[in-house]
Amino acid sequence: MSSPAPAPSSRLTVLAGPTAVGKGTVSADIRERYPDVWLSVSATTRAPRPGEIDGVHYRFVTADDFDRMVADGEMLEWAVVHGRNRYGTPRGPVVERDHAGLATLLEIDLQGARQVRESMPQATFVFLAPPSWEELERRLVGRGTEDAEERERRLATARVELAAEPEFDHVIVNDDVRRATDELVRVMGITEADLGAG
Ligand code: 5GP
Repeated sequence: MSSPAPAPSSRLTVLAGPTAVGKGTVSADIRERYPDVWLSVSATTRAPRPGEIDGVHYRFVTADDFDRMVADGEMLEWAVVHGRNRYGTPRGPVVERDHAGLATLLEIDLQGARQVRESMPQATFVFLAPPSWEELERRLVGRGTEDAEERERRLATARVELAAEPEFDHVIVNDDVRRATDELVRVMGITEADLGAG
């Protein structure tokens, strides 16, 4: 009698890190250079920014829709980020891909990463770190998307979040986007064989 095939090992990667460290930029670089690598599309209650496409960058949902998704158990994790909007990872596609052993990337905040650690400890947890505290401040000011009060709030959170680095399996310093992306792709074990696997 033949034994069942062993479950493929997990190739789920969770990327977290403080505000303005460049998680979005690294994800966008992966999206552009490795279009076949699957990035989970989060649901959020925040409004789209110019250029953001519903279903591509996020699923933009109402507060009621978000409540319903949480109540129905559709969220793998969710959190209020920066004291304002809610963000969550739809569970179905992530679990399906994980069971199939396909490379999958979640770009979420620290609270979310800790929740995924509880429910899917087989995933690989990667912390994207700034080269220095000064550089993080400079990036936050430089992108100009927050007012002074909001910046202070995010920096206070970032100080706490930086202390979480030892919880992670890998730390990637985002000194250069392309280099950081290459390192993430290596950590994820992405090979030519993945490209086109869906
Ligand atoms: P932004 O509004 O700038 O796109 O994202 C704000 C923050 O929300 C970022 O730190 C990002 O990592 C986080 N985020 C995006 N999607 C999710 C998600 O599905 N879950 C959690 N917990 N955080 C998320």
